Amino acid sequence: MAPSTFPPRAARPAGARLVDRTDPLTTTLVRAGGVVVGGTEVIVAAGPCAVENEAQLVRTAMAVKAAGARLLRGGAYKPRTSPYAFQGLKEEGLALLAIAREVTGLPVVTEVMDVRQLPAVLAVADVLQIGSRNMQNFTLLEEVGRLRRPVLFKRGMSATLDEYLLAAEYILKGGNDQVILCERGIRTFEPSTRSTLDLNAVPMLKHRTHLPVIVDPSHGTGHAWMVPALSRAAIAAGADGLLIEVHDDPAAALSDGHQSLTPQAFAELTRSLDAIAVAVGRTSQSAPFPEPLA
Ligand code: PEP
Ligand code: MN
Repeated sequence: MAPSTFPPRAARPAGARLVDRTDPLTTTLVRAGGVVVGGTEVIVAAGPCAVENEAQLVRTAMAVKAAGARLLRGGAYKPRTSPYAFQGLKEEGLALLAIAREVTGLPVVTEVMDVRQLPAVLAVADVLQIGSRNMQNFTLLEEVGRLRRPVLFKRGMSATLDEYLLAAEYILKGGNDQVILCERGIRTFEPSTRSTLDLNAVPMLKHRTHLPVIVDPSHGTGHAWMVPALSRAAIAAGADGLLIEVHDDPAAALSDGHQSLTPQAFAELTRSLDAIAVAVGRTSQSAPFPEPLA
């Protein structure tokens, strides 16, 4: 594993938890297939909520890459509130993610819901996503702690930041410090949005931990039209990146279409992030792979 920038355990003050920030400046760098999360560049992970078929995934993956996404997201195993809702393509979805990575070169972020899914997901995922509903699946956390694969670890929708950091501690305790935290909205009394995106969490987590922090404004709002504003706010607040749902035809999506951006809206969003990133001492690249002139 490539060394992270964080001091080794031996150099840590007695009593400090592994997730705790012990010096004001250092952020642990999480490395996935050549992409670094937690460095100067703001990293955008984008793609469909769920992998639905090859055309949908590859079209969306190519579009998000062209707009500056550094990581491809897409769920093969989907945790759905209703057991009658689309549950994901499972192994078939993983195979399609491998194809999309082959076509685009983008490292893949995909969810693992249970230890029994780990062997299949590990065969494809560059980054293991652990979702909000599994933030306290301690058996799964211990298992991924034994691995050295990066983990995109989402905050539980009703978890305090203390509970969240203690759950992350389970992963670090096993020796895996390649953990990206992700604020994805919490449950409050406000019903006009799917969740209340808790942007307080960004500076608070950056204050308390050395782990990189990204924001998911798609699940955090539940409304595609709100995603650009909250994306810009997240970067302004100091987030190390974003996780954004994009679908080539949101109206036809099998899950979370209402909060998914079209490829065009996503490209407009990434362009608008560049200036915000610079304003807070970061960089972002809205079009990192210029196409050769025809
Ligand atoms: C997702 O990223 O599609 C997802 C299910 O997110 P969350 O776990 O935050 O609800
Ligand atoms: Mn989703």
